[in-house]
Amino acid sequence: MVFLMNKSVPIIQLGNPMLVQKAAWIDNIQDEHIQKLIGDLIFTVSQANSVGIAAPQVAESHRLFIVASRPNTRYPDAPEMKPTAMINPKIIAYSTEVIKGWEGCLSVPGIRGLVPRYQKIEIEYNDRNGKIQKQELTDFIARIFQHEYDHLEGKVFLDRVESTEELMTESEYQQRVLKNT
Ligand code: ZN
Repeated sequence: MVFLMNKSVPIIQLGNPMLVQKAAWIDNIQDEHIQKLIGDLIFTVSQANSVGIAAPQVAESHRLFIVASRPNTRYPDAPEMKPTAMINPKIIAYSTEVIKGWEGCLSVPGIRGLVPRYQKIEIEYNDRNGKIQKQELTDFIARIFQHEYDHLEGKVFLDRVESTEELMTESEYQQRVLKNT
């Protein structure tokens, strides 16, 4: 029996041209490379104290991301959920209500930005077994989905920040925003 260990994979950062590329549709979800990548991404997201990670962030141009909300040092108020692989995800519908919230990104270290996102979205994706899943997401989980979806389109959260006054370094954010919540 071959025992495959999941490993933490290196994350590419702002300036790497792969972050502005549109990721490719996944035709064969059962492909060994894709299944291994899912395991590695789930491992990496938990190691990095993050709540989501998209395949392009580890230089893999595939329409796949992990949503793994849970409270951690970077996002103390995050709701708890099981890490979920979302393959070929789509946004089917969205609310008219838009909410601004602070985001960070493993590919944009040291910076936080206030980003407007739809409060509620209806989504569809294939799970890692290939089954189609439909869900309605709200608030923080909806925010993670929209952030990760942007990575598949070659966008980062900085593209959506409306003013440089709505950007902060991580240490200013820890002092000004987290300490007051
Ligand atoms: Zn990101």
